Amino acid sequence: MTEITPIEYVKGIGPQRAERLKKELGIFTVLDLFEYYPFRYEDRSRFYKINELNAESEKVQLIGEVHNLKVTGNGRQKRMTAVFRDETSAISLVWFKGIDYFKKNITPGIKYVLFGKPSHYKGTLNFVHPELEPVSEAKLKKGAQFQPVYNSGEYLAKLGLNSKGFEKAIRNAFIEKHREIKETLPDYFRKKYQLINRKQALINIHFPESLDQLQQARFRLKFEEFFFIQLQILKSKHFKKEASAGYVFEKVGEHFNNFYNNKLPFELTGSQKRVVKEIRKDTASGKQMNRLLQGDVGSGKTMVALLCMLIALDNDFQCALIAPTEILATQHYQTLAEQLEGTGIKIDLLTGSVKASKRKILHPELESGEIKILIGTHALLEDKVKFKNLGFVVIDEQHRFGVAQRSKMWKKNTRPPHVLVMSATPIPRTLAMTLYGDLDVSVIDELPPGRKPIETIHKYDRDRLNVQGFMKREIAKGRQIYVVYPLIEESENMDYKDLMDGYESITRDFPPPQYRTSIVHGKMKPEDKEYEMQQFAAGKTQIMVATTVIEVGVNVPNASVMIIESAERFGLSQLHQLRGRVGRGAEQSYCILITGFKLSADGRTRMETMVRTNDGFEIAEVDLNLRGPGDLMGTRQSGILDLKIADLAKDNKILQYARNAASELLKADPDLAHELNKPLKRAFLQFQKDRPDWGKIS
Ligand code: ADP
Ligand code: MG
Repeated sequence: MTEITPIEYVKGIGPQRAERLKKELGIFTVLDLFEYYPFRYEDRSRFYKINELNAESEKVQLIGEVHNLKVTGNGRQKRMTAVFRDETSAISLVWFKGIDYFKKNITPGIKYVLFGKPSHYKGTLNFVHPELEPVSEAKLKKGAQFQPVYNSGEYLAKLGLNSKGFEKAIRNAFIEKHREIKETLPDYFRKKYQLINRKQALINIHFPESLDQLQQARFRLKFEEFFFIQLQILKSKHFKKEASAGYVFEKVGEHFNNFYNNKLPFELTGSQKRVVKEIRKDTASGKQMNRLLQGDVGSGKTMVALLCMLIALDNDFQCALIAPTEILATQHYQTLAEQLEGTGIKIDLLTGSVKASKRKILHPELESGEIKILIGTHALLEDKVKFKNLGFVVIDEQHRFGVAQRSKMWKKNTRPPHVLVMSATPIPRTLAMTLYGDLDVSVIDELPPGRKPIETIHKYDRDRLNVQGFMKREIAKGRQIYVVYPLIEESENMDYKDLMDGYESITRDFPPPQYRTSIVHGKMKPEDKEYEMQQFAAGKTQIMVATTVIEVGVNVPNASVMIIESAERFGLSQLHQLRGRVGRGAEQSYCILITGFKLSADGRTRMETMVRTNDGFEIAEVDLNLRGPGDLMGTRQSGILDLKIADLAKDNKILQYARNAASELLKADPDLAHELNKPLKRAFLQFQKDRPDWGKIS
């Protein structure tokens, strides 16, 4: 085995730079340096003409001559200007610094290659501090079509490692040390999945000579990055599946068939049918199911859950449905009770506010198996909640539930019951696959037919009068309206003040008895909340002023307007959740986002995204791009998501491809024991040593 060269011994680095590279970038060896990828490339594959440029042009390359060099002003006002000409037009150049140097080194009248981004100045375009290189020299540069650009930092740049410095060091390292690069994927495997070899990929990612080369290099390296992660996840998942045998739901019987044929109030969507089948297959397999069901708000996840629970009942098991809030649990209970009316199936509700007297009846009924479906909140997790034969657990809104909590439910029967986790915060599939190693994923990707897309409008505070007029017109048509205020723990008191001020001004502008307004927030007693919700659900109040407690699940089909105050303070997925509270009935629904006039760039993107699309998955991807995956799931500390080249938000297809490859490999050679897989096994062991935590997530 060849030794791997420590970074200080790479030509042109030395101890001082090495120390910085280790400290700032975690580059310890020449191999780490090879994996320090450019973050973008400057495209020098074509030359532009001056008359093609406009205010939106990116960095471009021109050929022409420099004329009229002129120095004006003194001190801070000192500048040099010149005119750059090609056969189509002329454009001015400006320098504020290094004037003496440039004046001496620029020769008027010879041909230059100019490289830079045109800027917009007083209605015309110019170049500020462009790069200029005589054509003769520029041509001699090898592989200069795509110039790699590297991230650097102040200290590194001082030590000569700016982007150009990195380029040079990496070029040298390739010349001297390329032998240290080891292939990680065997020939047969690369052929099968059409991957170029590792050394070529590394060279081409830094110094591509064509777009094609660059793409192949990227593909290979991204594939590899995902592949080893997936290998680890699938291996541990394999292990877990072996470990936990699950109950077998042998048959589909009367409960299901009776409901499906006589009670189902609508035709299932194709996606719903597919997911029911997937779950049916899981629960018949003899292994415990752990499945994540993703579906946009309103896509009908609850019906899928109900149908699967009926299959569990057909096999003499009990079911539990857990929701994150009392309001949501209560609503689920009401909906299911209504849907199951006349079937003789006993269901009940258990939340923190259920009285001791009621519990006294409930517990024995649960233990005797009389209650078939128990719906509730975290209260269900308590040890004293015992079932006779729990077989199927549904957890709604997964993002508030950790693994630890999930596993509490596992212990409520001799074997762990099947678990279906439903999430209405669509996590981009890439992220789900990466994060939930032990969960299989099902997706409902269509909405029930006949839904009118919600119209979303962004308004500023100063448009408030306008919005009021709109509200009055909608109420006159018989509709109901939500008005939501942000509530963030850190500024709780101020937020409550905003909420109360808002409530007061609404009752002023919409005075009773003509108008009636409800209010719901986290500081109220459960029974008061419940009362207010009921009033609104029953249509006795037209306006519901609330904090985000209504975010999840609440279902009032006649409510068709969602007004979100200080919308800039909400995250994208939260805005989308809130919007999902309307658009549930036959009427055209609206979502109005109200913000201050001044918005951050992020804030503006969030508003624009909401206005542009209703697609939860698209929104989740934008969210991921804006916030980075670390923020999304509280995975920041785990550091698991700092990928070197692959992008969770964008490389979904490659991830799936790599996951497939990993799964096929494990099928063929579960222990990677085959002679041909030797290099792969070596690389995998190294990967596990570097990233020991990948398998344990979720
Ligand atoms: P989710 O929990 O996925 O946000 P729900 O299960 O609350 O969505 O469903 C939203 C609404 O759509 C409910 O009123 C439900 O009865 C209705 N629904 C569900 N599936 C269908 C379907 N296939 N056709 C028509 N309406 C449906
Ligand atoms: Mg729901």
